[in-house]
Amino acid sequence: MGRKGLGWYHGESRAASAALSQKGVGRNMRDILRRSHREDERDAGAGGDLWVRCSKCKELLYRPEHEQNLWVCSKCKHHFRVAAPDRIHITADPGSFEERDADLPPMDPLHFRSGVRTYREKLEQSAAATGSPEAFLYGLARIDDSPCVLGVIEIEFIGGSMGAIVGEKVTRAIETSIATNLPLILFSSSGGARMQEGVVSLMQMAKTLARLDDLGAASVPFVSVMTDPCYGGVTASFAMLGDVNIGEPGAFIGFAGPRVIEQTTRERLPPGAAQSEFLLSHGMLDLVVPRPEMRTMLARLLRIYAARSTAAYGSGEAFLESRSAPPEKVAVGA
Ligand SMILES: [Zn+2]
Repeated sequence: MGRKGLGWYHGESRAASAALSQKGVGRNMRDILRRSHREDERDAGAGGDLWVRCSKCKELLYRPEHEQNLWVCSKCKHHFRVAAPDRIHITADPGSFEERDADLPPMDPLHFRSGVRTYREKLEQSAAATGSPEAFLYGLARIDDSPCVLGVIEIEFIGGSMGAIVGEKVTRAIETSIATNLPLILFSSSGGARMQEGVVSLMQMAKTLARLDDLGAASVPFVSVMTDPCYGGVTASFAMLGDVNIGEPGAFIGFAGPRVIEQTTRERLPPGAAQSEFLLSHGMLDLVVPRPEMRTMLARLLRIYAARSTAAYGSGEAFLESRSAPPEKVAVGA
């Protein structure tokens, strides 16, 4: 594993996030995208260390129980946002995640500056707050003992936006799936393309799609899980192109948020539009899976694939073993 286990994330990041919050920034769209279960914790006030306030039903939740409930409100079932390392922790088998390209450094191709702050400073600030150098991490993992390539977008890193490095790492995750014949599972939660990288960011849409095409040609499945919120260039590129598209309950998924659509079109949207359940009923999603059932569902999909691929192509696991075995033992085409 590139970093020293998932423990690297905890501790420092909470303090850094608290320091950022003290700057008194208003709740504009960017802040909403940054909102996480940790921000909800701060909303709990003086007892914030032990209590979490649900942003939907306003109920106070006991933090240890809330974490055991996988950050799903026990009263109203609202799914809080989950940081990428926590997502991997609750999805992959313990100790099975082997991160790839953990140290790929961020890029500032346009030397972008907004007001007095440079993009480079923003990247450094986000890295300090999240403990991750960029907004995406991926690697090999097992889910209920089934191997796969698992990637997660970090929503707390500049709104999970896709710049050159996120696009590159998503592409490498797809290439890893092609090379190993292991199914790809991506959790996407993003504000869209990263505007500080301009056209370079938009190019990532085409790049990831080209590789997904190769993944399809190699008959390796891609399961896309979209969590709240999933917008813009991420939804408009790889996130919506899973062989199985899954949404978490209540997640806002689309090219833009409902308020932006209403302001642009001057039309009132039906209740629940752009949320998972609405998309499911209109054929845009295959499944809406509550978080406590997500791991079981992914494991089931992986087993279905493993049974089929072993019959048709040899399993990904056999492929991995074959790489360290003499050529005559390569188990392809059972
Ligand atoms: Zn609630």
